Amino acid sequence: MIIVMKRGASAGEISFVVNQVEAFGYRAHLSHGTERTIIGVVGDDRPLENHNFELLPGVEQVVRILQPFKLASRDFHPENTIVDVRGVQIGGQQLVIIAGPCSVESRSQLLETAWAVKEAGASILRAGAFKPRSSPYSFQGLGEEALELLAEAREETGLPVITEVMSIEQVSLVSKYADVLQIGARNMQNFPLLQAVGRTRIPVMVKRGLMNTVQEWLLSADYVLSGGNRQVMLCERGIRTFETATRNTFDINAIPLVKSWTHLPVLGDPSHGTGKWDLVSAVGRACIAAGADGLMVEVHPDPAKALSDGAQSLKPERFAELVASLRKIAPAVGRTL
Ligand code: PEP
Ligand code: MN
Repeated sequence: MIIVMKRGASAGEISFVVNQVEAFGYRAHLSHGTERTIIGVVGDDRPLENHNFELLPGVEQVVRILQPFKLASRDFHPENTIVDVRGVQIGGQQLVIIAGPCSVESRSQLLETAWAVKEAGASILRAGAFKPRSSPYSFQGLGEEALELLAEAREETGLPVITEVMSIEQVSLVSKYADVLQIGARNMQNFPLLQAVGRTRIPVMVKRGLMNTVQEWLLSADYVLSGGNRQVMLCERGIRTFETATRNTFDINAIPLVKSWTHLPVLGDPSHGTGKWDLVSAVGRACIAAGADGLMVEVHPDPAKALSDGAQSLKPERFAELVASLRKIAPAVGRTL
């Protein structure tokens, strides 16, 4: 449940309520909005049902959150969360484009792509160092060497970097280099990993699992948030359906739905969502039109030679055309780019 404090409730009234919540053995998560403070009571709060929190001084209202996810819910935090990645704000009026190769393959491949996407309008560089490949015989990523190259690319271009962390053991290493920790689709329900990134204070992007509902996805965000890491964003990347003509079925419905259910920024990944480069731009434009806070797009200087996901990677020129078209869509949905 959430306890909505009155506008102008004093610090003493707020801490009194927090103490009461904690006295029952629950954790209280505070959300200080521009209007009022909201206290999220986290845990199975059914035993609290008969407690009259409404009667405590400074309390306006006690609301049960009907959705199973709590901290990600807009009820708990009505204003949009803005995730700050080295000064790049995600979730505000400005759209954010994250772009780069699926995997770091070499210094020249990464730097060439980084400069090209920056030039085209991307503000964050993506690239995998540890790759979750379906086959153990496929390229697995360059590991720490890739992380060093990402740090070098950031140094040179000024672009912050996002890269995937696949296991708890990798969290401390990847945290040394990454500006955003990416939780991949296959790990969306790796609960100990979600808890581990929740203990860091590095922004986290939780990608939707291949076979997961929106509700499960938001519960995964709650795992990260409940560790105290409030810098969480979501990325729709398509789900598995009976359709085999495309790699995944991009769930465009999820974008406006999740934007209404949660305060967290929501991005779209039309690259994994389609699996085909010639569909990426159209679906990317649809994401922005549907209200996404930005895109994550795979770009490769020579997609035919890519070590992973070449079929869905845009050449830099095509990526630049995509961004130019998004600049026309942005004002129609009240955004800037
Ligand atoms: C990726 O972003 O390269 C990736 C592996 O994505 P996903 O986890 O969505 O498949
Ligand atoms: Mn990929």
